[in-house]
Amino acid sequence: MWHGTMCWCVKTDAGYFLKSALDVYREMLLLYLDQGRQQVNSLCADLEPWQIIGVTVLTTLGGVWARGFLFQQESLESRMKKQCFRLIRKIPYVGVAIQSQLNKALDDMSVSLCTLKEGMSYTHQLPSTGLSQVQVLDLIREYQTLNDVQWEKGWVSGAVYWGDETLTKLLVKVYGDFAWSNPLHPDIFPGVRKMEAEVVRMTCSLFHGGPESCGTVTSGGTESILMACKAYRDMAYERGIKHPEIVAPKSVHAAFDKAAHYFGMKLVHIALDKDTMKVDVKAMKRAINRNTAMLVCSAPQFPHGIIDPVEEVANLAVRYKLPLHVDACLGGFLIGFMAKAGYPLAPFDFRVKGVTSMSADTHKYGYAPKGSSVILYSDKKYRHYQYFVAPNWQGGIYASPSIAGSRPGGIIAACWATMMHMGESGYVDATQKIISTARTIKTEVRKIRGVFVFGDPEVSVVAMGSEDFDIFRLSNALGSKGWNLNTLQYPSSIHICCTVLHTQPGVAERFVSDVREQVAIIMKNPKEKTTGMGAIYGMAQSIPDRSMVTEISCGFLDCLYSTEVHKPTPPAAHMNGNDTQVVPKAQSHPDLIEVFEEKLFVDGIPPAGLHPLGVAEQRQEAELGFGSAGSGSGLGLGWSGSGLVWDWADSGGVDFIQSGGTAAAAAAGPVLVAPAEA
Ligand SMILES: *Cc1c(COP(=O)(O)O)cnc(C)c1O
Repeated sequence: MWHGTMCWCVKTDAGYFLKSALDVYREMLLLYLDQGRQQVNSLCADLEPWQIIGVTVLTTLGGVWARGFLFQQESLESRMKKQCFRLIRKIPYVGVAIQSQLNKALDDMSVSLCTLKEGMSYTHQLPSTGLSQVQVLDLIREYQTLNDVQWEKGWVSGAVYWGDETLTKLLVKVYGDFAWSNPLHPDIFPGVRKMEAEVVRMTCSLFHGGPESCGTVTSGGTESILMACKAYRDMAYERGIKHPEIVAPKSVHAAFDKAAHYFGMKLVHIALDKDTMKVDVKAMKRAINRNTAMLVCSAPQFPHGIIDPVEEVANLAVRYKLPLHVDACLGGFLIGFMAKAGYPLAPFDFRVKGVTSMSADTHKYGYAPKGSSVILYSDKKYRHYQYFVAPNWQGGIYASPSIAGSRPGGIIAACWATMMHMGESGYVDATQKIISTARTIKTEVRKIRGVFVFGDPEVSVVAMGSEDFDIFRLSNALGSKGWNLNTLQYPSSIHICCTVLHTQPGVAERFVSDVREQVAIIMKNPKEKTTGMGAIYGMAQSIPDRSMVTEISCGFLDCLYSTEVHKPTPPAAHMNGNDTQVVPKAQSHPDLIEVFEEKLFVDGIPPAGLHPLGVAEQRQEAELGFGSAGSGSGLGLGWSGSGLVWDWADSGGVDFIQSGGTAAAAAAGPVLVAPAEA
């Protein structure tokens, strides 16, 4: 055998050397194997067979366990971090201290969120006999008085996208006509079926879907996104992927986190380019692996209003044969009309090869009432993965297109009516106004020294940050001017999302001038500490133990369902019932109290409507003031470390506790200001 091979080898020198080198390695390998075998055998020489079997079984099980431990959906690092914090909270004093801080935060929150107006209470049981229609309508008015924020004036970012009264009238009429309808029963309500099909088709056409394009109406952007992720997860399962991954920019909507959580997927966040805030396509390419189930782009994303490079990501999608979802929930019904409104954009829809699905919210810039959105696919084959069918149910073969079973036909009808009423010209017109307003704000804010605009927003959102001061101070300051903006984190920023309401005369101008004025004030002392809600946002961002943030957030959600009336607490008592901390401090500042009482009390009796509300802590300066701001009038007294908060008349108290007692009053122009640290 050796000779035969050699003859063949001699034909080429290289082949010969390779062969002989390989032979040397082979012999060495055999030698080592033999040595190894002998060593293992000698090790086991004194062992009985059961011991050998036992050790083998245990190491195999150990190996399987280690593999399961190391490779889970949640990374080892993230799990270790969590475990660490869990242990920290088990340390005696530390754990108790943390818990009491958390409890305090939760108590404060429930007081500030769920305080009703004087004399109001919650209904805990059904009225034993039904109320008359007049009584119900009277009650409704009482609930409406709880509104404090004036969104009609355009002081709120996003939230309400049109709010026009004539449109409201139409919607109410159409909803009424279809109030009892349910698209789950198309035989009984064929009109609603036709409307839903038409809403989907009109939206397909808007985004240049081909003849195979299709979709469904859902209850909102989140459901649209959930549906796309569910469809692509099932497609991935079919390809044999056990742990499907969503590869998406860091800026995508939290609905993708929700989808990953609900559907057992992993969300892989891709960093953004720091200057443009668009997803880093190279990093996205690197993140694609054999578990990747889908790619995502936003057009535009919520935090900074930036459109991701859809064409480049679509190239990746085509190259790696992956589906690509374009989340146009926020701005779909703007970007679809921007070219016609005179603001051309790079292609972002089904015209781009590789885009397989899109979501667009009719209940945002579609101006339909809340509770509707559209999910679209470039081809029917994708939509089939979204459907759910239970063929064996005792109640009959059950087929439904999305998460809900029964669905509100009235909402679909109202959505259809809005689209038909707006028409292309209506949408183009609204788009033109909104984009021009947002561009004005962008241009003007860029001129203000001390703040910058993130990237180059092309649609309706303008996000601001600062390198000179904590931007949350600006959000506080604008809050006191009546603005209700969105606060964003990682990095700290705030944004305004322009709607039709911001296109009213004077609104954008007032916004820009308020920003200019407040930034100028802040820039006089850029390093000053942030207080109030701004400080809370900043702090929430810097807590390394995210489970604490989750815990507080769950407390927040619990609050929303609270039906307990929070009684205003007497001034000497702490909001959570602990009265030991505050009294001594109050006594140590008798002069301030004296000023307070001297100026306002008559014969030691507070004037009508003034009653103590609670105690706010962490006031930096001593001040006493009253005035009116946003929610009503207020009066506050505070000093270094803590402060008494008094509620004047019908303010509801919320502002004063949240902002540390005096900020709201001070914002309205303090009438009296006592010297700091008297
Ligand atoms: C609003 C929004 C969504 C969906 O939100 P819903 O509140 O469920 O309608 C998704 N993506 C973006 C970018 C959004 O702004």
